[in-house]
Amino acid sequence: MSDSLDHYLEQRLSTVRDAGLWRRTRILDGPQRPEQVIDGHRVIAFCSNDYLGLAGDPAVAAAARKALDQYGVGAGAAHLINGHTRAHEELEQALAHFTGRARALVFSTGYMANLALVQALVGRHDTVFEDRLNHASLIDAVRLSGARSQRYRHAEPAHLRERLEKAPATGQRLIVTDGVFSMDGDIAPLPELAALAREYNAWLMVDDAHGLSVLGDTGGGSCQYFGLGSDDVPILMGTLGKGFGTAGAFVAGSERLIETLIQTARPYIYTTAMPAALAAATLASVHIAASAHDRREHLQNLLRRLGDGLDRLGLPHPPPLTPIQPVTLGTATRASAVAERLFEAGFLVPAIRPPTVPEGEARLRITLSAAHTQTQVDALLQALERALDQT
Ligand SMILES: *Cc1c(COP(=O)(O)O)cnc(C)c1O
Repeated sequence: MSDSLDHYLEQRLSTVRDAGLWRRTRILDGPQRPEQVIDGHRVIAFCSNDYLGLAGDPAVAAAARKALDQYGVGAGAAHLINGHTRAHEELEQALAHFTGRARALVFSTGYMANLALVQALVGRHDTVFEDRLNHASLIDAVRLSGARSQRYRHAEPAHLRERLEKAPATGQRLIVTDGVFSMDGDIAPLPELAALAREYNAWLMVDDAHGLSVLGDTGGGSCQYFGLGSDDVPILMGTLGKGFGTAGAFVAGSERLIETLIQTARPYIYTTAMPAALAAATLASVHIAASAHDRREHLQNLLRRLGDGLDRLGLPHPPPLTPIQPVTLGTATRASAVAERLFEAGFLVPAIRPPTVPEGEARLRITLSAAHTQTQVDALLQALERALDQT
């Protein structure tokens, strides 16, 4: 029995290895910040999603420490039993306020929030319209919901319209998109999607994992960037492990939307609440994020500097509006080789390869944080130029 399992697993693993797609974890010592020690190497990291530099922020850590003393470590039970502390409640209120929605509900991870949300909204007789480059958790959520999936070409409202035209007249229609695309760094055309949702009587859901806290005057994300409110985007999901620098996720929307999740969403009901200390730390980070104008401005300055530098090197990149600035290099082998050179030079920039991105579009996924300095960005550009020359 165990022989046949080993044999089977070995075959699966060789397929990955032979395709040059082997992945491995590196070990980080110390907090998440640009200067770090990973696998024993001192590097400057350009890969975290800690866009505002809050993951290692002393005020956020202090809030966690204080709540640890008050609540202990484990939540002990699901929200609907007795795991929902005052810290969770305050965080949900703060997130509703932050996003300008009536109510918010916290989840332990973004993956779960997406599973919960899509399953609560649609089932077998419904149709979901998905951007082709949506995050894996959204794609899985739609699969699990059993709804019919219709993928439209990336950020192309015209193609979405065609799909909507041809959709069955019966059942609900849900349009689902990333706000900022996690591997491409561009912003979804939300005003056009909201207009189409209205025209075709569909609901619009935005996963703004990479937009919230970063885009908009008060960090309200891609909705705020476009000046859209809850009438345009009634279903908003955000994660807490990226710009907010902690962990977990939330859904924000109407009273009825949130109550429906509480009453029906299995990934909400059948899981232990996040630790209260994490909720308290996140509450602190949400307050910082709301007024983090300096951090956002510094980040935008760094992005312009990086964009100009990439232009000088003749490297295509998305408009430098979001902290995700991928540089597409083609084959997985080439992207890995450049990433390896950069690592040797003291820069951690991951190569993103298929199946995370389409075949032939392997890339370096450079991300910037408000915790980076201009000097670090300049040094990265120099190292990148050298690495490309040598590859
Ligand atoms: C990271 C991410 C998620 C998953 O969130 P986790 O809290 O890390 O599970 C969902 N959607 C998008 C777009 C993401 O980038």
